[in-house]
Amino acid sequence: MEQTLILLKPDAVQRGILGQIITRFEQKGLKLIGLKMVKLSDTVLREHYAHVAEEPFFEELASFMSSSPVLAICLEGIGAIEVVRNISGTSPDQFGTIRGDFSVSSQRNLIHSSDSPESALAEIRRFFKEDELFDYDKDEWKHVYAESDKK
Ligand code: ADP
Repeated sequence: MEQTLILLKPDAVQRGILGQIITRFEQKGLKLIGLKMVKLSDTVLREHYAHVAEEPFFEELASFMSSSPVLAICLEGIGAIEVVRNISGTSPDQFGTIRGDFSVSSQRNLIHSSDSPESALAEIRRFFKEDELFDYDKDEWKHVYAESDKK
């Protein structure tokens, strides 16, 4: 079953909308398998945002991302990476998504979500130790997925 990582950024923590955001993933039927609050260190920030490290906005991004703790969450489900990206949205113009419904800025954009199987694996390892991820049966899944969805 596919796993992916989201970070609820400092703006989501400060605005008190963590619960509303998590609810959207729960409502879709995704399984929460890990959840922790983290203060991002310089090292982790440089690793996590290596693909934008040379951008002029990097320092501002790093300062924002370390301005308060973030909430790291590992989610599991069929096609979880794409499902989570669709729920998160990529721009504040996409109504119906988290960014579209709760944000107006492309910087204060509330949520990070893994964009590929490779990044999901690396990001889950970056934020969670093995014993911080929980393998359990989600009974609701028999009402979320048909047997044939799992093939
Ligand atoms: P996304 O988070 O949508 O996958 P990127 O990985 O390209 O986007 O960028 C990482 C983060 O850098 C964005 O979520 C946003 O917080 C910040 N960012 C991206 N573009 C800009 C910009 N032009 N100015 C300031 N911050 C930006």
